[in-house]
Amino acid sequence: MESRCHGRINSNRFHVIGGKALTEFNWQKAMIQSRIMEKVQNVGDRINSQSWLEQIRTLAKERSVTSILFMLLIGFCCIPIFIGLVGATFTFLGFVFVEELICLFDVDGTLTIPRQRILPATEDFLLNNVKPKATLGLVGGSDLNKIAEQMGGMDVLEKFDYVFAENGLVAYKNGKLIGRMNIQEHVGEEKLQTFINYALGYMSKLILPVKRGTFIEFRDGLINVCPVGRSCTQSQRDQFAAFDQEHGIREKFVEDLKKQFPDLGLKFSIGGQISIDVFPEGWDKTYALRYVEKDGFKEIHFFGDKTAPGGNDHEIFEDARTFGHTVTSPDDTIDQLKQLLHL
Ligand SMILES: [Mg+2]
Repeated sequence: MESRCHGRINSNRFHVIGGKALTEFNWQKAMIQSRIMEKVQNVGDRINSQSWLEQIRTLAKERSVTSILFMLLIGFCCIPIFIGLVGATFTFLGFVFVEELICLFDVDGTLTIPRQRILPATEDFLLNNVKPKATLGLVGGSDLNKIAEQMGGMDVLEKFDYVFAENGLVAYKNGKLIGRMNIQEHVGEEKLQTFINYALGYMSKLILPVKRGTFIEFRDGLINVCPVGRSCTQSQRDQFAAFDQEHGIREKFVEDLKKQFPDLGLKFSIGGQISIDVFPEGWDKTYALRYVEKDGFKEIHFFGDKTAPGGNDHEIFEDARTFGHTVTSPDDTIDQLKQLLHL
């Protein structure tokens, strides 16, 4: 055992440890070193008697800064792995749930011969060949009853994923009504009457091959103005269409309406064979896009026959959100679908 004694020489305190005399300062230094060594020895003894898990815990307690750094390192390594996993999950969900492509069709002149019922072969092709590869939608200028009449009945709402009547101002998705707008509330009765009275006056002065009834038809989203009268027969329709092509009856009528009502916020669109659609600006067929746009399709394709300026398919055909296809007949629509979808 180590011998220790203490004394004083000339008022300086000294210590003798193991035969060595130490000054007060060196003695204090030796005592601190000795205490540190004891502490280290104690920790070592404790660790040796513990399980590996307890050893890590003890080290973590004794070396808290080291353990924090170690945990931070593990954390930083995990961040890229976590980001990778989240990215892969969203990509997978995107493939499973996001629709790739939607095909929207005008009705008259695109899926049917003007004013005629859709042919069974055209309908079969759409439902059996196109529908498995793309979502189907109709965007017609007519009201729902007329669209249903041309498409073979009200079950058109179930056969097609989307049906937009009156340019989309009356909107159905999977057979359910999802939106309806009203021109009367939007424009106001007084302005509407001023417009209707002027249009009737203009048409009363026209000389045409024949004239029948229903020159103005009021719908939810638009006013349909028809110089020959909507109650004419199919042959009278064809006769007016040929006369209009030669004399520009509707084109001149639209030019006159634009001059007469520059501030009413109305747009005029020549649609079908015999009439002009009148609706507030922005209420053209692009109105329907707000419904399909939010459903996250990667590509929106539109097929229509009146895609030239002034035609009722022009705005949606030109819209940056769609891929526009001009067609000349239902057969041409089928040919272009075969090309697009590799059928
Ligand atoms: Mg058309």
